Formats: sequence, structure tokens, C-alpha cells
Amino acid sequence: MDDVKTFAAQQTRNEATTMKALAKLKAEPGIWETTAPVPVCGADEVLVRITHTAICGTDIHIYNWDAWAQATIPVPMITGHEFAGEIVEIGSAVTRPLKVGQRVSGEGHVINMDSEAARMGRFHLDPETQGIGVNRQGAFAQYLAMPAFNVVPLPERVSNELGAILDPFGNAVHTLQQTDVVGQNVLVTGAGPIGIMAAAAAKFCGARSVTLTDINAYRLGLAAKVADVRCVDVSKEDLNDVRHELGVATGYDVAMEMSGARPAIPQAIEHLRMGGALTLLGIPAGETSFNWSTVIMKAITVRGVYGREMFETWRKMLGLIEAGFPLERVITHRLPVAEFQQGFEIMKAGQSGKIVLDWTGV
Ligand code: ZN
Repeated sequence: MDDVKTFAAQQTRNEATTMKALAKLKAEPGIWETTAPVPVCGADEVLVRITHTAICGTDIHIYNWDAWAQATIPVPMITGHEFAGEIVEIGSAVTRPLKVGQRVSGEGHVINMDSEAARMGRFHLDPETQGIGVNRQGAFAQYLAMPAFNVVPLPERVSNELGAILDPFGNAVHTLQQTDVVGQNVLVTGAGPIGIMAAAAAKFCGARSVTLTDINAYRLGLAAKVADVRCVDVSKEDLNDVRHELGVATGYDVAMEMSGARPAIPQAIEHLRMGGALTLLGIPAGETSFNWSTVIMKAITVRGVYGREMFETWRKMLGLIEAGFPLERVITHRLPVAEFQQGFEIMKAGQSGKIVLDWTGV
């Protein structure tokens, strides 16, 4: 059986030994096209031929070579962690019923299966998590080798293009999973792609009202097209007026902070009701301070969110798409991978939703 799989994979790969990839080649701003060896598929891994990838905010940090990237990213490094493709090779020790030719995406957080968290079945809480395209070779390449455990097969209704944005959608859904939004008034701060997805999904899941704030006109305009939510430019409108308009008299039940912007946390706390919940996904730069006494006096529950729950978040997001959630609306740019520099420039300018790079013509 293994011989058959390997033979089929080699047929599909046309015995390629090198591949095109986008990599951090130098310890300075930029990402460059390069040629790299096709990764070897380990015994417990699969080799995926990439068809679509998406650019993440994390990739922009790596591109810009900011303090976080300098401290985190080894050079040289193939970047990228938002991907979809098809399996071309299956390792000899893989027991999952995966098939060559199967369309897949996958969890980009690679965990130590012997960690205490993994043994507890709480895979997403492994402190030794390694990120594809962050701590280990990434998905901006024609081929990606990854643990078979991390592979998520795509149902028929989920295209490879959507498969490439499941990673950020998973951040949004994981954040949403922390609280019950049915019939609730929800505040989402930050209208980046994940904020827009979270706001739209909250409404799709039955929130009474969803308010989405930002100060970027392009992003608020995109959000208005994607979701039936009240978009607010907080540099121009007062949230108290918006609450009055929506009948959110005593404050929001749930706030999801998706921006990392300095004023967002105090603002969310101010507008939550007594006993409300604040869920934090956006990562603030450096330290932020606010008056904790308000959190205590309002009996607010604060929770940090990281990554996606393996694999409950994946099950739920595929379920949402199959239920008709219009995730594709958040994709604003589709570019052949040859135009990746343009994709990064658009993304850096904050003038986009998700940008998908197409690898099928490579
Ligand atoms: Zn990402």
C-alpha cells in the first residue's frame, strides 16, 4: 500500500526535487522569491502541494522585520501559514485515512504530542507549540511537509481558496466560542479581516446586535459589505450614541478585542454591562495600562485567546461555511503568486481584506 502511495505521489510531483518558495532570506525588511529543496515527507507527515495561500498580519511583521520578528524568526525561513492544497505523499507511519489527491488545509500550530496539555487532550494549550512559517518551514511554497495529525480535509463545499483562510477564520471562531452570543449585544473592536469575520459570524450565529469599531474607513466599508453589523468609526462617532440607537442601554454583553490598539481595551470595558465578558485576541504592542478596578467593580470576565482549538474550532468553522456563512466576501484580492510583492504592499497599506495568492500556475 505504501509503495502504491509513494508511486502515486511521485507521479503527481513529477519527481520534482526543487520548488519555488517565498522566504525570509536576509535579516532585513522584505520577503524574497527563492528556490528550495522539496521537503522530505517524514514518517508521520504528509506532503501537501500548495494551491492557495493567504497573507496574514504575522507575515507583515516578518516582512517588516520588526522587533518581534527579529527575536522569533530564524533566517533563512520559508514563511506563510495560511494554506490549502492537495496531498501528494503520505508518510509510512500515518494511520489516519488520508488519501493522495485529497484537498486539505491544516492547523499551523505543530504541537508536542507528549506535552502535558496534549496528554490532557487540550492540544491548543501546548506551551511548546511551533508555528508553520514562524518557527518551522512554512507554506509559501509549492510543497509543505506537515504532521498528518494537523491535516484538515476540506469538504466538497469548501474551496481551496476558502481553505487558505481557515486559519484566521479559526481565530475569529475560537474567539466567538468563548461566549454565548445568541440574542446578545456584541461589541467587536478592530475591523481587520479577523474582526470582520468575528463580527459577521456573531450575527450569523444569532446575536441581537453587533457593533464593529475601527478608525480605518476602508476596513469599515468592507465590513459593511460583508456583514449585517453596525460599523462605527470611533474617531467620528460616539459609542454612547450608537448604543442609544441600538437600544443597548446597560452596555454590551460581550466584547471581542481584535485590534491590539491601545484604546480598545479600556473602551470595551467602559461599554460592557455589569457581568459582561471581554475576550482578547488582538495583541497590543508593549505594555498597556488601564484601571483594573472597573473590571472588578463591573464583575467582568476577561479571557485571552490564542490560535484555534484542535479540532473543535475547525469542525465549527467548516460547519458554518456549510451552513451558508459567506466567508468568501472577506477576500478582496486574488493574485498569482508571481505578484506577491504587490500583495504585501496592498496589505501593508491597510487597503484590503484577505489577500489570496494562487500557486496553481507555478
Ligand atoms: Zn494567520
